Amino acid sequence: MEKRMNEQELLDSFDEALLNNHIFVVYQPKINHATGRMVGAEALMRWRHPEYGMQFPSEFISVLEKSNLICKADLYVFEQVCRLQRKCIDEGRHIVPISFNMSRYDIYNNNYVDEIEKIRAKYDVPVKYLRVEITESSAVGGVELISSVVDKLHELGYIVEMDDFGSGYSSLNVLKDLNVDIIKLDMRFLSGDIGGRGGTIISSIVQMTKWLNTPVIAEGVETIEQADYMKSIGCKYIQGYLYSKPVEEKEFIEKLDSIEHEPVGPAMDLISTMDAGKFWNPESLETLIFNNYVGGAAIFTYQNGKAEILRINEKYIKEVGMNQTEADILSTDPWAYYVEGDKQKYIDTLERAIKSRDEESCETWRTIYSDCCGEDRICVKSFVRMIGKTEDQYIFYAMVQNITKEKKMYEDLYESERRFRFASEQVNVYAWEYDISTKEMRPCFRCMRDLGLPPLVKNYPEPAIEVGIFPPDYADMYRDWHRQLEEGVGTLEAIIPLTVGRVPFHVRYTTEFDENGKPLKAYGSAALVVDDKS
Ligand code: C2E
Ligand code: CA
Ligand code: CA
Repeated sequence: MEKRMNEQELLDSFDEALLNNHIFVVYQPKINHATGRMVGAEALMRWRHPEYGMQFPSEFISVLEKSNLICKADLYVFEQVCRLQRKCIDEGRHIVPISFNMSRYDIYNNNYVDEIEKIRAKYDVPVKYLRVEITESSAVGGVELISSVVDKLHELGYIVEMDDFGSGYSSLNVLKDLNVDIIKLDMRFLSGDIGGRGGTIISSIVQMTKWLNTPVIAEGVETIEQADYMKSIGCKYIQGYLYSKPVEEKEFIEKLDSIEHEPVGPAMDLISTMDAGKFWNPESLETLIFNNYVGGAAIFTYQNGKAEILRINEKYIKEVGMNQTEADILSTDPWAYYVEGDKQKYIDTLERAIKSRDEESCETWRTIYSDCCGEDRICVKSFVRMIGKTEDQYIFYAMVQNITKEKKMYEDLYESERRFRFASEQVNVYAWEYDISTKEMRPCFRCMRDLGLPPLVKNYPEPAIEVGIFPPDYADMYRDWHRQLEEGVGTLEAIIPLTVGRVPFHVRYTTEFDENGKPLKAYGSAALVVDDKS
């Protein structure tokens, strides 16, 4: 029968419990949900009291902490872990790293790390098979102490996992200052369903941890839905009842033998020259550059057509944010701004950048709305570069320029060009457009009126030669021009006497090419040659 012991009973029986193996260790596997392989295990303390039955840590850990017995208990657990690893190694088993919990009172104890090293040496277990779990709450009252312990553990070669991440205690700041190697995210701290607010919080935490390039293990995962969801947001390591409850040593060894193993992999494959993690640190040089020197910049993730902005700098807001706040920008779907068709253009650019691993750019129009200023349409030139990638998600760095003014200027120019064309109708200039691939010619209004040409002339220039606009002695030369246009000549010009009246005209062609240099159209004009002497 299981019954709660009171504190005094608990303390009185502690020494005896250690001596008689009433306190013992259970092991819970950590699994890669994508492959089903075991990546490690966690050692958890249990107390089976001869009278009171099984006691769980929630009942006795805080009592042991209060009475300064926790270090002794934790070292006992650690010794059991070392003993198990040594035994398995000796038996020729494939083993996985086993993590042990370090109470914050262990951190306050200056000798603790030396003590574990003594035990490890006694059992001669390679440090790579042992991992330390420290909780975020150990940082209450400052990170200096815990940070020095983490450094010491690192020097000795231990991998350090941050336990119970997300449980409070200003998680983000702790993470920034603590150099942990793996983060454990407890699903149970994030109440609510994964489709709602809880899911959003989890996904942004996972998002951010990727940014720090730190692998995440999701703890307390009980259902396949939770595991699938975690995998979908890039967290494939799972510890929880779904795969296994904590089990006693014998059963754990059976699992060790029956389940395949693999190591915990890095969170993402960062492009080697970039240390994206530094962008997270507000004091880093990278952040300084990000904020002050690069112009408008954003960092965002991209996955199957979906984008999410992680960070923007101040200049980004000035450049393209119009009157929105940073929070507005971060909370809105970036695609919502794009005008029809330009979203695809941007996605194509991202896909190009993924392939080329180089900078790619595009120009897109966006409609921005703000409470104070209403709607505004802006044109943005973006230079994008992929800086990191996980299995199915990419991280991009984008620099943006607001080129609306230039675009509008270009439009004005285009407009004045159009006006020029109208004006040319007023003077003695004839103009036409020649489509090089189809040999179709479209004359201007004046050509149609004065020369009786239809709006579309096929097989140009033959009809013009036939009706005598180009006289027979110039026919071959004019045909040759069109051959040259086909071959990609950029400009052609000559004085040609036109029509039966042989009136001298300055005839010109200018060719338009596509991006590949293929000639598309030639613009022809014929201007009356004005005799200066007359
Ligand atoms: P923890 O380090 O976060 O350990 C994970 C706890 O979650 C374990 O509880 C484990 O049994 C439980 N758990 C794992 N998967 C699931 C799941 O899918 N659903 C649910 N509901 N629970 C799950 P446990 O063993 O009762 O330990 C509770 C806490 O006590 C631990 O939390 C840890 O903070 C502390 N603790 C356990 N063993 C030790 C130890 O050896 N030393 C120290 N200092 N603390 C320990
Ligand atoms: Ca733990
Ligand atoms: Ca935990």
